[in-house]
Amino acid sequence: MADLKSNLRDLERHLARFRETGILNQIAGEPSPAASGATFQTRSPVDGSLICEVARGTEEDIDCAARAAKQAFPEWRAMAGTERKKLLHRIADAIVERADEIALCECWDTGQAYRFMSKAALRGAENFRFFADRAPAARDGNALPSPTLMNITGRVPIGPVGIITPWNTPFMLSTWKIAPALAAGCTVVHKPAELSPLTARLLVEIAEDAGLPKGVWNLVNGFGEEAGKALTEHADIRAIAFVGESRTGSMIMAQGAPTLKRVHFELGGKNPVVVFDDADLERALDAAIFMIYSLNGERCTSSSRLLIQHSIHDEFVSRLTERVKRIRVGHPLDPQTELGPLIHETHLEKVCSYFGIATREGATIAAGGKAADGDGHYVEPTLFTGATNDMRIAREEIFGPVLTVIAFDEEEEALEIANDTPYGLTGYVWTSDVTRALRFTERLEAGMIWVNSENVRHLPTPFGGVKASGIGRDGGDWSFDFYMETKHIGFATGEHSIPRLGG
Ligand code: NAD
Repeated sequence: MADLKSNLRDLERHLARFRETGILNQIAGEPSPAASGATFQTRSPVDGSLICEVARGTEEDIDCAARAAKQAFPEWRAMAGTERKKLLHRIADAIVERADEIALCECWDTGQAYRFMSKAALRGAENFRFFADRAPAARDGNALPSPTLMNITGRVPIGPVGIITPWNTPFMLSTWKIAPALAAGCTVVHKPAELSPLTARLLVEIAEDAGLPKGVWNLVNGFGEEAGKALTEHADIRAIAFVGESRTGSMIMAQGAPTLKRVHFELGGKNPVVVFDDADLERALDAAIFMIYSLNGERCTSSSRLLIQHSIHDEFVSRLTERVKRIRVGHPLDPQTELGPLIHETHLEKVCSYFGIATREGATIAAGGKAADGDGHYVEPTLFTGATNDMRIAREEIFGPVLTVIAFDEEEEALEIANDTPYGLTGYVWTSDVTRALRFTERLEAGMIWVNSENVRHLPTPFGGVKASGIGRDGGDWSFDFYMETKHIGFATGEHSIPRLGG
């Protein structure tokens, strides 16, 4: 049974190689320092200590990686789907074998609690298995005969793609993007977040050790405005799958415009959880707490606005407050810990800035509201009550363990508040009235809605947001819609008359 001590010991063993060599890029199957030789430091949010140096890729490195991906593309595209399936399963097997190493590195690099990251590593393997099984049929299409033509459609991989990922649950999110790209037959250049580069390096190594041909998957570390920007502008990169902030998505769209990049965006959210007075309050309470205080609240699908019906407001909020005060904040490698330190000092400052904003705006801090003393980026789980939807704490994505409570009287009012946001990623509705649930979810502006449930991800279902929360869908076949082009070919079935010009 793992405990803090054994986890720390194992972590040291896993980090030794990073401390020795730093984190290199991986281009055409070769570990490579940045062309300029430049590096940057990655530090742990647990105590601010240096983890290692990281290659600081720029335009030149992106160009090498994109050329490698372009060169590897014809062979990878031509590989039978059944072969790709076997290979992707081998990657999944290797992830499972190294799941603890991945989880420990992820915790140390991001501050996420071990109890969640040990599962996230396995979810990464599931992502590979899910898309591995779909690889053989990814190119399938339709026969659409007309009186004069046998029309067939098929799908072909779009080409080399760029994948840009954020620092929150970086391992799981990278697998979620890269697995379908590979299953579709695309080659990849991955630019992970500069704040959490460890597990992206492990992942590409795992893939190549499992037999992935050189150049199919390339890794370039670096900053968004250097490496990330160059990737979005590169002419050989056909599409960009991006997960991150809405304003970065907007920049990427502009950067990719001259080369007509296809884009897929998973962006921010300010997601409502709406609790009606006929709900199962015990379950609603568990779910509301889980969806904002797990994963340090650093999750795009977090339910950061609690809309609660007036008639149950006082009782619900009083129980909520008690529970929030009991959330266990601590060292992320301690399996008992529920909330670890936030990713970075500047992010901690951003989250904490909302404590002053909340009180100035007239809300009440019912729990938390303070950063912890000491080196790590720890913050107390925080609950704002007595809020209205026009306050900044209700409108802006705080991206931390901070919940804003807003009361409502009527269903229509709840809907208006829920939709009164630039975002539209997820929504959660708690009621025992099925008709109301159907009516409400129909009009709720969100890409994904769960009724009487927390966010439970089922891989064949579509994942994505509306409004400022994203463009496009992932999951199931939707991922292939992005990574592949649908092609039409019409065969004449007879000698139909062809309009004759100039004859
Ligand atoms: P971010 O937008 O700051 O950075 C994300 C990535 O984009 C990083 O790799 C960064 O280096 C890169 N980047 C930054 N500027 C760039 C540019 N000009 N060109 C190309 N690349 C650039 O986001 P973050 O702070 O790392 O992540 C948190 C955000 O991600 C939150 O808003 C969260 O809601 C969102 N998110 C959304 C989903 C979803 O599924 N909708 C999932 C996870 C995270």
